Amino acid sequence: MQHVVMFSAGAGSWAAAKRVAERVGLDRLQLLFTDTLMEDPDAYRFLIEGAANVFGISLSGRMKVPSYSEFPDFRDRPKWKRYLERLSTEAVATIPQLVWLKDGRDIWEVFFDERFLGNSRLDPCSKILKRRAADRWLVENCDPRDTVCYVGIDFTEAHRFDDGRGGGLRPRRALEGWTYEAPLCSEPWLAKWDVIEWMRAERIAPPRLYALGFSHNNCFGFCIKAGHAHYRLLLQTLPDVYSYHEQKEQEIREYLGKDVSILADRRHGNKKRPLTLRAFRMRATSEHASSSEDSDYGGCGCFIDQTASTE
Ligand code: SF4
Repeated sequence: MQHVVMFSAGAGSWAAAKRVAERVGLDRLQLLFTDTLMEDPDAYRFLIEGAANVFGISLSGRMKVPSYSEFPDFRDRPKWKRYLERLSTEAVATIPQLVWLKDGRDIWEVFFDERFLGNSRLDPCSKILKRRAADRWLVENCDPRDTVCYVGIDFTEAHRFDDGRGGGLRPRRALEGWTYEAPLCSEPWLAKWDVIEWMRAERIAPPRLYALGFSHNNCFGFCIKAGHAHYRLLLQTLPDVYSYHEQKEQEIREYLGKDVSILADRRHGNKKRPLTLRAFRMRATSEHASSSEDSDYGGCGCFIDQTASTE
């Protein structure tokens, strides 16, 4: 039986991979990473160190994992992509059972190509760069009758894996012939802080985004599915990243010639209005958020979520 863990550079997928390795061994285990080319440099560091840890590979003397400051400026996209190409080649040569998939485009290039700005309900970025890329690899490299796929969903989000009524990732993928499991939805229960303690015990530094307050280690703290509170955190902790996405949002608005935005303004009763990142920043720096905004973190589940219209 082949075992494929959807490895996202997040705490959950690392812990899932550890549990799977413990249960089935390493021989037929692969970690599948789908790169948006928009991850935090420290996420790439964790991805490599975490994968090496799962396979018991010492990186010492084999590969120098770059620290945050050694990465080029993420805003220089050609340079950034060339850097990641070299890094992934070296990482895969060092950890052969790590599969590192890249479309070649990042999330904004997908939005421009699709002529559609993603939002909390429609996510062309994860559909194309993650789910489709992973599905294609599975079809080309695995036999569904001889493969189990694993995701890092934990017990707090178990309903997104299988809600018991035919909804969720597992039943959806089962209809297509694939077997999915979520090792963290079984006892012993592990919360994120337990996993972070586990990482420390294994001498791996946890991804820095968690310490900054982010609940996911995705897309450099950005996510088109995130809510107001998440963007407030991004603005406060990673203003350069916020500023980059604010600029890209302005560019795509001009490109499409439409009043589109990632966020929505709900201050006018039930009617939602577009709220650009620029307007949100000006609002956030000039006044206090409302209590509803403060608690609106939104949800990110690249591999899990699938709305009817995103395929
Ligand atoms: S984390 Fe958000 S922005 Fe990034 S690929 Fe997933 S859905 Fe898209």
